[in-house]
Amino acid sequence: MALKKERLYYKAVRRAMVAVNSTATLKEKLAVIIRGTARTLKAGVALIFLDSSRKKLIHSSSRGLPQFYLHKGVLDADKSLSEVLTGQPVIIPEVSKDSRIQFPDLAAKAGIISIMGIPVILGGQAVGSLRVYTREYNEFSHQDINFATAMANLAALALSLNPSPEWGKEAAPAKSAASVETTPLRKARSVTFAHPSEEEFTRILDFYNIEWTYEPRSFPLQWQDDRITEMFTPDFYLPGLDLYIELTTLKQSLVTEKNRKLRHLRELYPEVKVTLLYKKDYDHLLAKYGCGPLADMRAHGISRVLYSATEIDERVRALAKQISKDYTDRRPIMVGVQRGFLCFMADLIRRITIPIDLDFMAISYYGGENESVVKITKDMDLNVAGRHVLMVEDIVDTGITLNYLLNHLRAKGPASLAVCTLLDRRVRRILDVPLDYIGFEVPDEFVVGYGLDYREEYRNLPFIGIPTIIKKPQKKSGVKKNKA
Ligand code: 5GP
Ligand code: MG
Repeated sequence: MALKKERLYYKAVRRAMVAVNSTATLKEKLAVIIRGTARTLKAGVALIFLDSSRKKLIHSSSRGLPQFYLHKGVLDADKSLSEVLTGQPVIIPEVSKDSRIQFPDLAAKAGIISIMGIPVILGGQAVGSLRVYTREYNEFSHQDINFATAMANLAALALSLNPSPEWGKEAAPAKSAASVETTPLRKARSVTFAHPSEEEFTRILDFYNIEWTYEPRSFPLQWQDDRITEMFTPDFYLPGLDLYIELTTLKQSLVTEKNRKLRHLRELYPEVKVTLLYKKDYDHLLAKYGCGPLADMRAHGISRVLYSATEIDERVRALAKQISKDYTDRRPIMVGVQRGFLCFMADLIRRITIPIDLDFMAISYYGGENESVVKITKDMDLNVAGRHVLMVEDIVDTGITLNYLLNHLRAKGPASLAVCTLLDRRVRRILDVPLDYIGFEVPDEFVVGYGLDYREEYRNLPFIGIPTIIKKPQKKSGVKKNKA
């Protein structure tokens, strides 16, 4: 009997080895490992990984576990089973009697009795875990542990063999500490999206180095007796920001229902941060990068002046006065991000009455297919460590760019880091970034002038205005519209 079991282990390991050494994708390799482990041990199996802060454990892929269990939530690494912290296997024969189980009710509902956690070790450090869940009491034998360890090691090998998106490209000049590092979580993610817009959204998140997980957790909203009758599963969770995002690219009729659920969620779980992104916001977001349904628009003149040159001047003077006061004896480095900041920065520094240093940065923007990660095309020249840094922005919209830049600068160890933006379009914010000085809070309309462009035009206007956006004339197609 024991021999038969060993043969099964051997077969599963051998199959996994063949897969790992093949040209299959990482996703396929990990699927073979998980499937082999699940079949051989007659158990549910999941691969979970630490996020880059090493605080949260996030589900990557699995087999034989119910959806509600997978969506139970993000696990706190310090409170969960200890295998990722100690690098040692952990066995929990009786889940119901163990305090380390963070979602005991859901484990009970899934019929899970015993769990084994095997660390996935990469470069001498545990980066995640291969967890085995059985519906029968199981103390897990030495052979079980050895087998699961072999499979976890093969998962680590697969991760190390499959190149990250960064590799193979030309080495970027002077890689900074904040440059994109592909965490195992990011690499091993295997997701099937419900909607193509969700996939496009993850490309933007990946581009700006924002860690995410898809449909991470279901929040019960209504109960009947002990039964959950209504749930809400946000599309994304961004562990670094502890933020859930719901993408609403649906019809208006469905949006109303979603809004109701979201209100309910906020009442029941006030500590949970959720951002709802409407179709309109999402299309604007894509259009900014030249993709999506609004990408074919053209600006044709200015329809309305939002802030006149005089109004801007007054506001800039006020900001300069405040900055001069706040930074007395601190000699800030003012950093502009190319190119929209130009007029604002030029006027601002001429009104500032204290000594300052000046520096600039430039980054590449998300543009669909070409690059998979944001690149700093011009980094700061001055040494930031121990200095007071004040970022100068033209406009903060979703906050995605600023979030990236702040993370980048924070890693350089400044004494302080603050942000001064001429315009703040708060209604479109996705990521909550702290702003210290704000010129104007602008409405939900695209603006140009005073440095800001529409496809590189209108930067040189002395005022800020709203362009007349028109749809590009469509090329005549052969099909005539039904002209009755
Ligand atoms: P975020 O990453 O906050 O969504 O976008 C910030 C950048 O998008 C700004 O620095 C700016 O380049 C661009 N942007 C956002 N909104 C506008 C706008 O209304 N007009 C112009 N010209 N650029 C904008
Ligand atoms: Mg900018």
